[in-house]
Amino acid sequence: MGDRWLVEVDRSLCIGSAQCVHTAPEGFRLDTARQSHPADPETDANEKILAAAENCPVEAIMIRLLGSGEAVFPPEE
Ligand code: SF4
Repeated sequence: MGDRWLVEVDRSLCIGSAQCVHTAPEGFRLDTARQSHPADPETDANEKILAAAENCPVEAIMIRLLGSGEAVFPPEE
């Protein structure tokens, strides 16, 4: 079985650029305040969601392994 991820968006950082929605349309939604939310915070490991996190201009998207809480993105130093 593949990894399961917990995806979070830090709304104090999100600037509503919508890049994550374009990169991973199934992974993120913008609300009426143009704040991004994960479509489903608990998701199977997914390259598009990882790409969205990597490409967010303000690094507002965090991904951890569900269960252990180990950082997937941003990676721990
Ligand atoms: S890419 Fe980052 S800043 Fe842009 S909407 Fe998504 S979470 Fe917000």
